[in-house]
Amino acid sequence: MTRGFSAGQPWPMNERAMWFHRVTTALGVAALVIFSLGCQTGVPTEAAPEPAAAPVTSDNEQVQGRGEGKDQWWDALPRAAWSAFERVEQGQDWFEVYEIRPGVLAIYEPGQFEEVISYLIVGTERALLFDTGLGIGDMRRLTAELTDREVIVINSHTHYDHVGGNHAFETIYGTDLDYTSEHELGRPHEEVAEFVGEGWIWKQTPEGFSADDYLSRPFTVSHVVEDGQVLALGGVELEVLLTPGHAPDSLCLLDRERRLLFTGDTFYPATLYAHLPGSTFSDYERTAGRLAELADAVDVVLPAHNEPTMPASDLIALRDAFDAMREEGTSFVLTDGSREYDFGRFSILVSDPPPWSAE
Ligand SMILES: [Zn+2]
Repeated sequence: MTRGFSAGQPWPMNERAMWFHRVTTALGVAALVIFSLGCQTGVPTEAAPEPAAAPVTSDNEQVQGRGEGKDQWWDALPRAAWSAFERVEQGQDWFEVYEIRPGVLAIYEPGQFEEVISYLIVGTERALLFDTGLGIGDMRRLTAELTDREVIVINSHTHYDHVGGNHAFETIYGTDLDYTSEHELGRPHEEVAEFVGEGWIWKQTPEGFSADDYLSRPFTVSHVVEDGQVLALGGVELEVLLTPGHAPDSLCLLDRERRLLFTGDTFYPATLYAHLPGSTFSDYERTAGRLAELADAVDVVLPAHNEPTMPASDLIALRDAFDAMREEGTSFVLTDGSREYDFGRFSILVSDPPPWSAE
């Protein structure tokens, strides 16, 4: 899914299957079956071939089929990018914590395929947790170990890999969109079991964790956020930017003082998903335009998967990428029924036919 690009290397074959799994993070079971129709072909083809008549397979077969021998997604680990930052000691092997800036801690979960990153941003009065991860490790215990301040939570969006620890926190900021409300109900084991199944986790899971019981637990948004709202932590102010596109409730956080932009799944250095149920291409495009305008106001982009930092200049590249996709003749590959446009450090997946063809 989300590796390969930052190293500037071609996608190895097993990567073909990887992105499938990130796709599935937001799909229901029914959608999965439909989606699986095109997933066995492996090698992407040039634009607009007939869809391959591949057999429907279970998603678990997809996971197991993504590589042979040692050719697994975790072979990409550890990622070199993390070595630039100081590792923070804490008590749970499941997490890796790195200090990106003073008081800005990246909480990385490299043991599961998503390689999700949550961020703890500590002020003098409170700390803010931007996403709560997979719900495999104990995020509440971790944050209590990392700071003695009260911890408030805000989610970059409510896909399962970003809200896993929400249930353990009382103060949660979020949107009042129906999409968020639906996800507050949690997701039953059957819908998320796959994500902790074979091929998805390579690291020892914490004592007490059982993949057989894994689910996305319900939580309650206690405070509704609005675009432009400033969350003051004491000496640190974070501006909320509602940035729909990847998901309806996607949002970014801007630290103007320290010139940091936390982008969640809106932007990370790999394959971006503009094709999921709930994704809206035109919104994503507008969001990319808005973020590009911040390129002069920030130095560093902090994404929610794989690696903790990207240069602000990539924000311009993101906007340019969305522009380029609309241009006739821009090449893409058809991958499992979706169009993938490759822009080097990242690529973008959209449905086929593309959303703009219906405008
Ligand atoms: Zn997501």
